[in-house]
Formats: sequence, structure tokens, C-alpha cells
Amino acid sequence: MNNIKYFDHAATTPVDKDVLKEMLPFFSESFGNPSSIYSIGKKNKEAISLSRMKVASSINANFNEIYFTNGGSESDNLAIKGIAFANRNKGNHIITSKIEHSAVLNTCKTLEKFGFEVTYLDVGKNGIIDLNQLERAINRRTILITIMFANNEIGTIEPIEQIAKIAKKYGVYFHTDSVQAIGNVKIDVKKMGIDSLSMSAHKFYGPKGMGAVFVRQGIPFMPIIDGGHQEQDKRAGTENVAGIVGMGKAIELSQLNMENNNKKIKFLRDYFINNIENTIPDIILNGDRKNRLPGNANISFKGVERNRLLQELDSIGVCASSGSACSAGRLKSSHVLTAIKVPPVFERGSLRITLGKDNTKEEVDFLIDNLINIIKKIR
Ligand SMILES: *Cc1c(COP(=O)(O)O)cnc(C)c1O
Repeated sequence: MNNIKYFDHAATTPVDKDVLKEMLPFFSESFGNPSSIYSIGKKNKEAISLSRMKVASSINANFNEIYFTNGGSESDNLAIKGIAFANRNKGNHIITSKIEHSAVLNTCKTLEKFGFEVTYLDVGKNGIIDLNQLERAINRRTILITIMFANNEIGTIEPIEQIAKIAKKYGVYFHTDSVQAIGNVKIDVKKMGIDSLSMSAHKFYGPKGMGAVFVRQGIPFMPIIDGGHQEQDKRAGTENVAGIVGMGKAIELSQLNMENNNKKIKFLRDYFINNIENTIPDIILNGDRKNRLPGNANISFKGVERNRLLQELDSIGVCASSGSACSAGRLKSSHVLTAIKVPPVFERGSLRITLGKDNTKEEVDFLIDNLINIIKKIR
């Protein structure tokens, strides 16, 4: 690990040591089934409740509006399919954007096979949706708007409160994939008017395979996994107690340290971007300069092949990405960079650097120096 310089926090983050410490007792010592009536089971039910409280309070939701899942993808599926099918009698139209994560896009594609109609909104050059286009897309059959809080490739933060206002005006439910935003942006579902929201623990220093979905009380939604009565009948299966406890601790820490972490991460990001912009010609900074996640720098280099670039970086121990991890390794162009109309000669040379709380200025300096040389060498 010593020689690894990790700049891919949008793909995943390491489990925080304090999070791991809280999780460990729940694997072997405190292993009881939370649904059992004896004390080692009941104690675990209480641990789950405590964690649910932490997750709820981090976004100002109510305790009974949080449902644990096995990650961001399942949360997106549960919210979107769950709300769509439960409200099918009201309509069959869903609105989303062209730059969503595949967990949302492919969920919408599946719903189209079941008779739903989906509008995929364009985004501007900065990756932000057009609120007028959104309002015009709403019709009498529209039941759900699902727009991500922040984009995983270019870091753009969408105008969530304005989207919520428009949804409310037309009586449409509003879900947001906030997997990238949790821990980086303050979220208040009541103040912001969010009806449903997805999160994933491994994006904020919690364990992989652990997530949660918020659905405002009173909104009808169906389970997608049927079975026992766990999670208020909305997500069957014996609870991942250790994972739930870890998620609770991770979200608590992320809220506690958000301001300090953001200050440091933002400084490093701007330092990186400024240095690259001042030293390497023919580049584009993708995404919005202002409405952007604190750790995200997505840069396209003209006349560079991104797989070559990533291999060169890997050879010096730098972990970075060209876009979302799911499309990495494939030579397909990014649907996000295509949507914001990055010219192909630039798009092919795209690099996503996502900084985290443990990155140092020394690491960023190392990255800058090497990147300058690598780009020169490849060009
Ligand atoms: C990572 C990610 C997901 C998927 O979360 P998993 O927990 O890996 O299933 C969904 N949406 C966005 C925006 C993401 O960044």
C-alpha cells in the first residue's frame, strides 16, 4: 500500500479504521439474528436501530423513512422500480437525465420493457440539466422524476431544490441518486423537498455491499425483494448487521468531519487543476467550475489515449480512472462526456481524479509532476 497513490475516491473509498472497529464484534461475538427474541438477537436489532437513527439524522429524515439495502445500485432499483410499479395506476411516465449512473439508466431501460415511458433530459456543457426542459417534459402521466444529486464522472451538482419545486408543483415524486453527494454536500431532505434518495456506504469510507434508501413517509412503493418482514416489509432478508453498523458509524463521521475534509480536499483539487491548466496545453476541464463536488477533477487531454494514460499512471502507483469504474477497461466512450459534447479528440484522453480525505499535497505534487511528463511523452 505504501507506494500506492489513490486518486479514485468516486469509485470507492477505504473503510475507515474507526468504522472497521465498530463492525468487527458483529461478525463472530454478537452474531444473533436481529429477528430473534433472545438477547443476542435483540441487541443486534438495537444496533440496527441506532444506525438507522444516524443515517436518518444525517439527511434530516425520519427514522422510519430509511430502508437498508445492499448498496447504491439496489437503492436506485428499489426507489425507482418500487415507486413506478406502486403508482402505475396514476401514470407511466418517468423523467431522468442522460448523465445518470447505469444503476438509474438501466433501471429505466428495464421499466420501458414493462410499459413505462422514459424521457432522458439533455444537459448543458457544464453537465447541468435545463429546468425549462424538465418542466416542459412533464405531462399528465408523469409519476416520477429521478435526477442525480451529483455526477460520478464530472462531479457536477444538479439544482436539486429547483427540481424538487417543479416536481411538487405538478404532484410528481422526486428521487435523487445521491451516492456521490453523501459526505461531500450537506443534505436536508425536508428543506430541499426530496421525496426519495439513494446512498452507498463504500463511497463515504464505509463497507462495500451496504446502502440505504430514503422514501418519504406516505409515498407508495413496492419491494423488489420479497420474503420476510425486515425493513418494514420493503426489503426482505436477514440484515447485514455488521454492514449496517459500519454504515451508521461512517455516515456519522462523514457529517462530523465534512467541513474540515472539504476545505482540505477543495484546496488540493484547485491546486491540481490550476497547475495542470497552467502547464499542459490543449486540455478541457469537464463539468461546472463552481457547482462541483469538492474532490472531483475531470480533465480531457487532446491527442492522448486514456488507456495508455492510465497504464502509465498505474506503473508509478497512481490509481485514477477515465470515467465510471463500470465502463473502465472498455473502449466505449463515456455517455456523460458525450452528453456534455466533449469533442472526440479530447474525449479519448479523459482522466478523472477524485481526491479523498487522506490525500496529501505531496501526493498531488507527485501526480502533477508525473502527469506533465507522461502527457509530453504520449503526445
Ligand atoms: C457508485 C455509484 C452507484 C452504485 O453504488 P454501488 O453501491 O456500487 O452499487 C450508483 N450511483 C452513483 C452516482 C454512484 O457513484
